[in-house]
Amino acid sequence: MDQSASAIAPELLPEYAERVLSALEDAGYEAWIVGGWVRDALRGDAAHDVDITTSAHWQETERILRGSGIEVHETGTKHGTVTAVVCGQPIECTTYRTEGTYTDMRHPDSVTFVDNVREDLARRDFTINAMAWHPERGLLDPFRGREDLAHGLIRAVGDPKRRFSEDALRILRAVRFAARFGFAIEPQTQKALVACASELKEIAQERRGQEIAGILASGRTSWALMAEPEVMRAAAPELEQLDEVSYARTAACLAAVEELSGGVASSSLRWAALFSEAGPKGTKRALKRMAIGIDTAQEAASILKLGAQILESMDKEPCWTRQESYGLAVTAERACAHEGIALSLCAAAYAGAHLLAEAALGEVARGRAEQMLQAIDSIRADIRGIAGEGAPLRVQDLAVGGSDLMDELSVPAGPELGKILNTLFSLVVAGALANKREALLAAARHMQQSAAMHDEGRDENNLII
Ligand code: ATP
Ligand code: MG
Repeated sequence: MDQSASAIAPELLPEYAERVLSALEDAGYEAWIVGGWVRDALRGDAAHDVDITTSAHWQETERILRGSGIEVHETGTKHGTVTAVVCGQPIECTTYRTEGTYTDMRHPDSVTFVDNVREDLARRDFTINAMAWHPERGLLDPFRGREDLAHGLIRAVGDPKRRFSEDALRILRAVRFAARFGFAIEPQTQKALVACASELKEIAQERRGQEIAGILASGRTSWALMAEPEVMRAAAPELEQLDEVSYARTAACLAAVEELSGGVASSSLRWAALFSEAGPKGTKRALKRMAIGIDTAQEAASILKLGAQILESMDKEPCWTRQESYGLAVTAERACAHEGIALSLCAAAYAGAHLLAEAALGEVARGRAEQMLQAIDSIRADIRGIAGEGAPLRVQDLAVGGSDLMDELSVPAGPELGKILNTLFSLVVAGALANKREALLAAARHMQQSAAMHDEGRDENNLII
């Protein structure tokens, strides 16, 4: 076992996890910290949540921890997992186990609890995820995960083909970890990824969706698409259906999205770029199918819709007024409440990324693309300016509300009031009226007077008739 100075410092282990570990060991069982926390701590990042693997059967774990005053939840007892909660922090505790054969490429037919931590490590997916650590006993690393971590390699534990056929989700997990850490995939593992990629289609859409979300969060989806086309195409039918050019455009668009947003693009913008070729409706459908949140689906679809409007307008005339930018933010706000600014910025970023992708593929002349990109830059600057000024994006943001009109102008509550407010808002958005209380009240008064005159005229006409 590795106890060298460069190993994980015992102080790194959070106190709440130490409490659970000690409770189990004081009761005579063996317990280790395992998986993501160990991997990330070795990488110098101990922020990951803590998982424990233990020789105690889950019923024993539950009894011991409860006896030590620790809250316990039965979160996956079929697989030997209970979750302890200490100081609000969840710690998953799982009994050492191996997995039986997989006949459906999804779930092990059986789970067998074992006494040996090494057997438990052997069932884990990649060497970097198959290390256990204990503050006194040090690192347990039978598959040389630490070496792979140092070399930046994703390597399956055991025979990669067999491991991917057991659980095809591991295929996508390999790409997710490679993308997240910027690691390479070890050649035998890579070979198996390609050979087994189509098995991914057997995996529930929801589970695939979670892994794709992880790849998107890495900001390196473009790399994933280009380096692992078999895997990524098998991950989603929207990608599988693309011809080579559309696929390459998608990858270029994702790279450009990261470039334009400094590597911190929102998840909805990333989803929009990933499924851009499927259009707003296709994207919404895909995200729904993968059980990605309804808000993200709505936002991604709106980004594509508004982005397409920007591109269409730019195609006719590569210029855009501040008024149009304001209109864009208001439309975005209407599509997704409270997200108008963020969403319109994303739509502009998407439009820019799409143009950069087309330029990279030689589908639009560089000069023309640059001209359009400049205009898109000015849209983004305008929208930031609009946000800075606190310009109203909804009727409710106007400097006067319904009660002001009722008090000052004696407009009764009802549809007339809503009509006046809507007209005031349209005038502000059109730049014909300032969002200032006095100006708005004056305009409302004027509207009221004209309406009254109009009504009088109508009455007179009625009399004549
Ligand atoms: P993340 O930071 O993404 O949560 P993680 O390593 O904690 O990384 P989890 O999905 O939370 O990943 O799983 C915890 C551990 O369980 C992994 O480190 C790995 O050892 C094991 N594991 C998870 N999923 C699988 C799988 N499909 N096949 C084999 N082992 C798995
Ligand atoms: Mg985890």
